[in-house]
Amino acid sequence: MTSNANPGSPRAQQLFAEQCDAQHRATDRMFAGLMLCQWPAAILLAATVSPRQWAGATSSLHLHVYLAIALGACLTLTPVAAALLRPGRPGTRHLIAVCQALTSALLIHVSGGRIETHFHVFGSLAFLSFYRDWRVLATATAITAADHCVRGLVLPQSIYGVLSASPWRWLEHVGWVAFEDVFLLHACRRGVREMHDNAARRAELEATRAAIEAQVAERTAELAVARDQALAASRAKTEFLANMSHEIRTPMNGVIGMAQMLLETGLTTEQREHAETIRQSGDALLVILNDILDFSKVEAGKVVLEQVPLDLCNLAERVVELLGANARAKGVDLVVRSCAGPRHLLGDPGRIRQVLLNLVGNAIKFTAAGHVFVDIGSAPGRAGHAVCSLVVEDTGIGIPADKLGSLFGVFQQVDASTTRLHGGTGLGLAISRRLVDLMGGTITVQSEPGRGSRFLVRLELPVAAAADDDDDLPATAPAARPQPPAALARHERARVLVVEDNPVNRRVAERMLQKLGCEVLLAEHGRLALDVLAGTSVDLVLMDCQMPVMDGYTATGAIRRREAAGTPRVPIVALTANAMAGEQQRCQAAGMDDYLAKPVRLAELRACVDKWLAASPAR
Ligand code: ADP
Repeated sequence: MTSNANPGSPRAQQLFAEQCDAQHRATDRMFAGLMLCQWPAAILLAATVSPRQWAGATSSLHLHVYLAIALGACLTLTPVAAALLRPGRPGTRHLIAVCQALTSALLIHVSGGRIETHFHVFGSLAFLSFYRDWRVLATATAITAADHCVRGLVLPQSIYGVLSASPWRWLEHVGWVAFEDVFLLHACRRGVREMHDNAARRAELEATRAAIEAQVAERTAELAVARDQALAASRAKTEFLANMSHEIRTPMNGVIGMAQMLLETGLTTEQREHAETIRQSGDALLVILNDILDFSKVEAGKVVLEQVPLDLCNLAERVVELLGANARAKGVDLVVRSCAGPRHLLGDPGRIRQVLLNLVGNAIKFTAAGHVFVDIGSAPGRAGHAVCSLVVEDTGIGIPADKLGSLFGVFQQVDASTTRLHGGTGLGLAISRRLVDLMGGTITVQSEPGRGSRFLVRLELPVAAAADDDDDLPATAPAARPQPPAALARHERARVLVVEDNPVNRRVAERMLQKLGCEVLLAEHGRLALDVLAGTSVDLVLMDCQMPVMDGYTATGAIRRREAAGTPRVPIVALTANAMAGEQQRCQAAGMDDYLAKPVRLAELRACVDKWLAASPAR
């Protein structure tokens, strides 16, 4: 950073010149006003002191009055015009100095040389010192000296008020003027020095500010580059996750699907155990994959919360039902111990269920004997809201005090050996914490090693308008998809077209559908699917999305366009490994009716096929 504190720097000199000019202009304006007041004052003085002159018995207006009017006009209007038309010029201030000194002389004259009016000279000099220009004081002093000298010799009465005066009396008066000048010159010098210092300081400040602004601009540019890079990295991360998800789900569909199909065949006990292990490992891998995807969605701010009616008690009961088998297998009691508060609330049941599943799942996982209790409570909150508490309490291994603080961080597990014993990614609580944060709530934990843990989630939820029947409320949000007729049709011999490029997944879908009794047609990509549909009528299409030659979205669009021309409408269900947020909407927008994420289970496929075959016009 360069320093311009030097008063000799070009910028400091420029600022000094600007300050001087501003000072000169302001003083010019001040004198214009002052002189416009002095002129009537001179006339008034002349008219008061000796208004008339006598010649015998006749009198007329005294010459002084005319002098005050005419000379006053000249001494006033000329400098005022200069001050207004040519402000700040050296000529203007010297003209003002001359006229101001002569105005003092006029006032002394019309007052008959009274000593009081001599003080006007001192006042004038003091005002002239506002210019902070010693030359102006010199001009005024010279005029005053000349006036005293000349009039003292020629007309002493008009200046000293006496008929005869010493020829050197003017020297005494000029001496007093010079005495005052000494102080005024000193003041002028100090004023000028201060203006120099000010200018130097301002120049330095300007230089500092310019340097800081340059630095800020540089940093801002750097930050903009960093932000763009971060955004690009985030986009790349999201794309990577989507691809990863797709790539992992595709073979997992093969592993889990085939294991399931294998389990449906006649196996020896040992073979069954092995196949079961493959299926369970696949399921475990899927949980981890879903956790990672979920966490990245929350981190990327892509989780959109729902606001639909929900019943916390019902929701807790269903979680307990779902995990009941795990608890029973370990001999642990799992119950909803108490449930109080309004049944009709508004919130995101899916996300609250996810948090509860994680907490209850952990509680079962880390409890060897005893119980896991779930308590749902509520207290009045803000107007129209209830503060709900969801407590999951266990008699498990507990958590050491020094680990409690970091428990909700990413990949935090109390200890590696425990983790190996119980499994898990250390993401569940981190996801729960972020979801609860998103819902504007809090999640806390109390624990004592060896005695158990107590997790408490507090959520302030709006209370919904009461429904007629408490038990009618859904525990989860109703699906937004088009709903088929309630009655299920039998799907035996139904013709289903599977459009899938991956040979293993094609086989999985084919076997599963055959297991359901369907007749299966296969196509490796969208274009082949169009060919099949041109010649054969089918009851349902299971459509993969990413395929070579023609993808599932394009193929669906083409099928729907054909249908617009008169062919019967066929239900199309996306069967895709794309599980990222927004995929379902994309499939719907492309014209598909439903969505199944890979890896798909036989039960899910059966439910879906039942649902759409019942609605199929071809049946
Ligand atoms: P994961 O269970 O997949 O490891 P979580 O984030 O759900 O990941 O939990 C992180 C860690 O917190 C667990 O590994 C465990 O050490 C500890 N923990 C969570 N819940 C309990 C509990 N109820 N009792 C004892 N420890 C727990």
